[in-house]
Amino acid sequence: MSDRDGLIWYDGKLVPWRDATTHVLTHTLHYGMGVFEGVRAYETPKGTAIFRLHDHTERLFNSAKIFQMNIPFSFEELFEAQKTVVRENKLASCYLRPLAFVGSEKLGIAATGNTINVIVAAWPWGAYLGTEGLEKGIRVKVSSFTRHHVNVSMVRAKASGYYVNSILAHQEAAADGYDEAMLLDTEGYVSEGAGENLFIVKKGKLYTPDVSSCLDGITRNTVITLAKEEGIEVIEKRITRDEVYTADEAFFTGTAAEVTPIRELDNRPIGIGSRGPITERLQKRYFDCVKGLDPLHEDWLTLI
Ligand code: PMP
Repeated sequence: MSDRDGLIWYDGKLVPWRDATTHVLTHTLHYGMGVFEGVRAYETPKGTAIFRLHDHTERLFNSAKIFQMNIPFSFEELFEAQKTVVRENKLASCYLRPLAFVGSEKLGIAATGNTINVIVAAWPWGAYLGTEGLEKGIRVKVSSFTRHHVNVSMVRAKASGYYVNSILAHQEAAADGYDEAMLLDTEGYVSEGAGENLFIVKKGKLYTPDVSSCLDGITRNTVITLAKEEGIEVIEKRITRDEVYTADEAFFTGTAAEVTPIRELDNRPIGIGSRGPITERLQKRYFDCVKGLDPLHEDWLTLI
């Protein structure tokens, strides 16, 4: 990733990709207290547009607030920075990664007084769980690792260190031949994937875990909105793993994963064992929105 052409926005300036470096004693590198976003831009009939940029930028600032990290840039500056990075790298569609991290002035748990640095990078990134996964669905395994507890970490924040838990879960699932892991909360209820929220469909209704232990996903919110528009009832509640086994359909949502059907959980086919009809409908609605083909939701798009 470090050796390529392009420009990265780094503390207010566009710097060549290869020069966007930091010191080895960067606080965040040692302790994981950084906050970040995953954002996507798509080609639309009116030009390249970033999807729900306002919401992603707002979540980044909220994550920083939770960790008492004072981002030394305004909302508008980071909003514009993300547009600039897509434009200056001449990317028609891409993934964006804004990250705020604690600098290297002092090492030790107390980070007070250290600089808060901000970068925004962008690069082309295809289907996170594979193009075939989007169509046929993926195989998922319940993880032996538990998702965060609200009093261990604060899950309204999207924080770098939290992803050790995601990586452990994903590595375990991948080593056993599955595409992705599904994590349970500390009480054993379904929480989310390693980097995705989860939905199930049962008798025409859509269910998703409440956001007590999972990230309050922006794609999750998008899908809930679209489902309601489709006349589908949406219920946020505790879900057990056997409710997923016996669901008619299941899918993951995320900026990277988009809307990815789950065809199997713990070696049990879900429903027809491939993408179900409601998943397909919502997936189509989602892609229409991000690609600027849904006049109802143009307000979710920011042209660069
Ligand atoms: N849960 C986790 C743990 C994630 O990393 C992500 C990706 N950001 C999501 C859910 C989905 O969130 P969003 O739809 O906002 O990308």
